[in-house]
Amino acid sequence: MIPVYKPEIGKEEEEEVLKVIRSGWISSASPAVREFEEKFSAYIGRKYGVATSNGTTALHLAVTALGIKEGDEVIVPDLTFISPVNVVLYNRAIPVIVDVEEENWGLDPEKVRKAITNKTKAIIVVHLYGNPAKVSELKEIAEEKGIYLIEDCAEAHGAEYEGKKVGNFGDIACFSFYANKVITTGEGGMCLTDDEGLYEKMQILRDHGMTKEKRYWHEVVGYNYRMTGLQAALGLAQLKKIDKFIERKREIARLYQELLEGVVTVQRDPPNGKSIFWLFSILTEKRDELAEYLAKNGVETRKFFYPVHEMPPYVEFTKSSYPISKKLSRIGMNLPSYPSLGADDIKYIIGKINEFVKGNKDGNH
Ligand SMILES: *Cc1c(COP(=O)(O)O)cnc(C)c1O
Repeated sequence: MIPVYKPEIGKEEEEEVLKVIRSGWISSASPAVREFEEKFSAYIGRKYGVATSNGTTALHLAVTALGIKEGDEVIVPDLTFISPVNVVLYNRAIPVIVDVEEENWGLDPEKVRKAITNKTKAIIVVHLYGNPAKVSELKEIAEEKGIYLIEDCAEAHGAEYEGKKVGNFGDIACFSFYANKVITTGEGGMCLTDDEGLYEKMQILRDHGMTKEKRYWHEVVGYNYRMTGLQAALGLAQLKKIDKFIERKREIARLYQELLEGVVTVQRDPPNGKSIFWLFSILTEKRDELAEYLAKNGVETRKFFYPVHEMPPYVEFTKSSYPISKKLSRIGMNLPSYPSLGADDIKYIIGKINEFVKGNKDGNH
């Protein structure tokens, strides 16, 4: 079976983790956490990093630090992994669900503009499947309206928009280091910002709301969203390889693009953007049958996320129709695209897709 994803864990990771174990500093007090925060924020190009237990806690830390609370409205996309919607609800705020765009699968700035009311506090933009969304446009809207922009970069480490890495546009940018993300710490996440005040707020909220001056004194209700030294050790080893991972993922994408041209619709760099093709994606009307055919032939795939507004906890937040999200969700699927995936395997997968499409045309399926 060729899996859809497989993390690359090697000698370097073993050594970094062993170093941390031998040092005795395995908790969040480990210097490795600080080092990972510094190195990852520098890699993306932001001043401060706050490492967290996972990507969802990073997003929750972000909305909480920005003061999002009961009754506030936060704009979220209809096509996304669910975390950015859930963290809004954790704070009893209202997710305002907006449709995505055909060309990059991210929030549509024009539809976002129309969804803004005097209760809107923030926009959470998701860079889906490695594609950069139109973050310059969204940043401009946020600034004009005096609201916050949060970037969910969980699927897009190293992707670029207008020549700048995503994660540089939001007031806060959140990353995930789950095992199938571009780099991994097993479970893990990080918030990045250039704002010192937000940086300190997020540190305090991450650590039970405890003031920095006085141990066990709490001015606010916080959380334990800390990252361990063991996770950070993995992250440090992974970060050394991130550019290699991204380069390889773009190479894999080029192969799929070249050999599937005219067979199915393939994921491509959107205008003004550089995708990192987190999970290389294709669109086809025969998606369900193709997924089944590939599974029978030993190739694991994933279907796109479901439209948020169709699922029980979120139905009540349906605001309009979501034609693009619905369509992408129905015809989109992810193909294997992990860095060590070999050219022979890619050609095998492409061969099976060709076989399926051709058989379909001949009426053999
Ligand atoms: C993976 C992911 C998250 C959440 O990350 P976890 O580390 O699994 O909590 C958030 N948003 C998006 C878009 C993701 O893909």
